[in-house]
Amino acid sequence: LADKLQGALQKLKSKGKLTENDVKEVMREVKLALLEADVNFKVVKEFIDKVKDRAVGQEVMESLTPGQQVVKIVHEELTALMGTTHSKITFASKPPTVIMLVGLQGAGKTTTGGKLGAYLKKLGKRPLLVAGDIYRPAAIKQLQVVGGQLDIPVFSLGDKVSPVQIAKEGIEHAGKHGNDVVIIDTAGRLHIDENLMEELENIKKVVIPHEILLVVDAMTGQDAVNVAENFNNRLGIDGVILTKMDGDTRGGAALSVRSVAQKPIKFVGMGEKLSELEPFHPDRMASRILGMGDVLSLIEKAQANFDEKKARELEKKIRSQDFTFEDFLDQLQQMKKLGPLSQLLEMIPGANSKQLKDIEINDKELAHIEAMISSMTTEERRNPSIINGSRRKRIAAGSGMTVQKVNNLLKQFEQTKKMMKQFSDMEKGMKKGGKMK
Ligand code: GDP
Ligand code: MG
Repeated sequence: LADKLQGALQKLKSKGKLTENDVKEVMREVKLALLEADVNFKVVKEFIDKVKDRAVGQEVMESLTPGQQVVKIVHEELTALMGTTHSKITFASKPPTVIMLVGLQGAGKTTTGGKLGAYLKKLGKRPLLVAGDIYRPAAIKQLQVVGGQLDIPVFSLGDKVSPVQIAKEGIEHAGKHGNDVVIIDTAGRLHIDENLMEELENIKKVVIPHEILLVVDAMTGQDAVNVAENFNNRLGIDGVILTKMDGDTRGGAALSVRSVAQKPIKFVGMGEKLSELEPFHPDRMASRILGMGDVLSLIEKAQANFDEKKARELEKKIRSQDFTFEDFLDQLQQMKKLGPLSQLLEMIPGANSKQLKDIEINDKELAHIEAMISSMTTEERRNPSIINGSRRKRIAAGSGMTVQKVNNLLKQFEQTKKMMKQFSDMEKGMKKGGKMK
């Protein structure tokens, strides 16, 4: 999908002036690309109409870079299609928060239960997994193995007790043992059937979950969308977790689920490993599909706040990695206008939360950093590798900081640089491969 869309849009990008026909022609190709990617027909039609309407409007035709404006519109509408904002788990005001995972057999419920537990554990929660699939042979064992690997407790009553009872007792168990999140794994069938739905409805009635999350296999494309619609009509879901996105190069499910079922995608499974679950960000996915990383939004955000020329220079420096302490200082000063650094860094694809944490800078620290950089010589700013022990001491003394602080700054700078390299590499990779990850 990414290849096709990029191809179609590439033609527009370089055009100086656009006619209505230009737009129509490109939209025809975009439409084909989306249909080929197994995006729901109705969704495609609405999408194309919307983009067309906006693209032949005044704002585009009269702008200096109409082609780029159209790309921007496609990006915005793709994002809107997938939900605009990032949807989080709603935690109960009075724990435990009960999350019920539902879906067809093989969609990835059990695996995702473990992944979600691991994710929540990282947020400081104390999850409990509840083994509610009593039909599939070895399903309980599977969940126990997953729980064991993650060091997350698993509640089970074997396969002779009804899933409703298991869910109920699981929640009681959580209350007694200080587990503030309960994740209920449920049974699936090969197809949606009456028995499955009834059982899920019964569990829902008894435990009143805070979140019913539907786990669907992204590789099944349109089927995933139908499943979502069915489960939502029957059960009322709160969100979707799309699994096996690592194997889905077409992206049809990601693009249609939200608009058909009117429920947000909350997470995506990116692999078999229990760490491979990511919160879903519609704008990032749109960028991935269009193959531009999030550099666009980063630059956009920057542009809104500091002047365009500076933003261009920064972009160039980021891309060429010709990035020095002078730029760092300059950037930090600009950054103050932009809001928290961590938020900016979040836009960089591939930046993981640990790195973000290491780099988090508050305003007071910002002042310290400014002081330290100000105490560096021009040469040191341009070539930080020469900053040896005695220079560190001098900088510390000059700025009223400790050597430890100076060391931290140098480390931080290296990390920032590394991350910038990461995302410029990723961008290059994306341009080459063009695959949606
Ligand atoms: P359940 O029947 O819904 O409980 O599904 P399982 O959790 O047993 O998963 C079915 C298969 O899908 C297993 O082999 C999992 O390893 C695999 N799986 C689950 N999530 C992902 C994912 O995000 N990516 C990939 N590649 N495989 C996944
Ligand atoms: Mg299972």
